[in-house]
Amino acid sequence: MSWDLQVGELRTPYLTHTQIWQATHRFFYNGKTTTTYKYGFMKALLESLATASDDYTISFDAIFASFTRTYWNLVMHHGLRQSNSANARSAVEKTIEAFAQKHAIPSDWNFDAIAATKQLELIQLVKKVGKKYVVGATYSDFGGDIYAFNLKDETLTLHQEYYIFFQTHKRMLVNITNYQLALFLEKFNDAEKITRLLSKVEIVSQRQSLAQFAQLLYATGMHNCFYCGKSLHKSHVDHFIPWSYMQSDDLWNFVLACVSCNTKKSNKIAAERFLYALLERNDTLLHHEQYAPQFAHYSEQKLVDLYQYSQLNGFPDNWSPQLS
Ligand SMILES: [Zn+2]
Repeated sequence: MSWDLQVGELRTPYLTHTQIWQATHRFFYNGKTTTTYKYGFMKALLESLATASDDYTISFDAIFASFTRTYWNLVMHHGLRQSNSANARSAVEKTIEAFAQKHAIPSDWNFDAIAATKQLELIQLVKKVGKKYVVGATYSDFGGDIYAFNLKDETLTLHQEYYIFFQTHKRMLVNITNYQLALFLEKFNDAEKITRLLSKVEIVSQRQSLAQFAQLLYATGMHNCFYCGKSLHKSHVDHFIPWSYMQSDDLWNFVLACVSCNTKKSNKIAAERFLYALLERNDTLLHHEQYAPQFAHYSEQKLVDLYQYSQLNGFPDNWSPQLS
């Protein structure tokens, strides 16, 4: 199997848990790794799971939006080298550095500081590199069982069993991905760059501000805390299903919350009655023309599934505010 495939078909229709675990262990622990790509791509794949369609198809645009954010922040914001060679830079690094230079973007900027149109431009450039070096390589690393892909359509379709496996064990898979990424970076970067490296890697793809989501929700006329009902003067948003599980920011998973509820809930899962309330809230929003685009990947079933998957991942559940 080769890394420069144009199309990949799923090789095995039925996979057992043992086969999936074995292939996943091999992916993380075996093979010669010359860049961080495999970890960066796995991270992006896990972060994009919430955008999967009913048949588990994910667009390259969604994956490489995550991938580009991670790499910009690693390469520019944190100044971390991504290849095992002291002299050569990886193609992704070269692409990002050339883009920063061309548009005179300061090297210490976080990805969020870049204008949205420029972000999209860079994502397209990085996607091109990813199509060449990463999509087919990861497919091959998993023996052609993880997903089917088509470079021309720019989509991949996860094997159903892998989709379920990823959602069921996502928290641990995110952790091992971050760990292996940090281990590689630690080996090939100078001591002053790797201070608190694992913490940097854990939040490298996290948005600096969620204000845009807060404003969108506040503009709907919802001015009360989703949990305790207190009226809100300032808008704060809470990831209904914890970010630690989702690893992504989706309007349909955001609710307005007061500071007290937001802080106390933290990465807990709210009681089931709040899930029903959110399903209803989303049903209202998705029928509004201006919010519809934010619901492109949303379905009620998906939210219910993700709620259950996050419970399987062991986050404290059944949280309710203590009303005084
Ligand atoms: Zn509250």
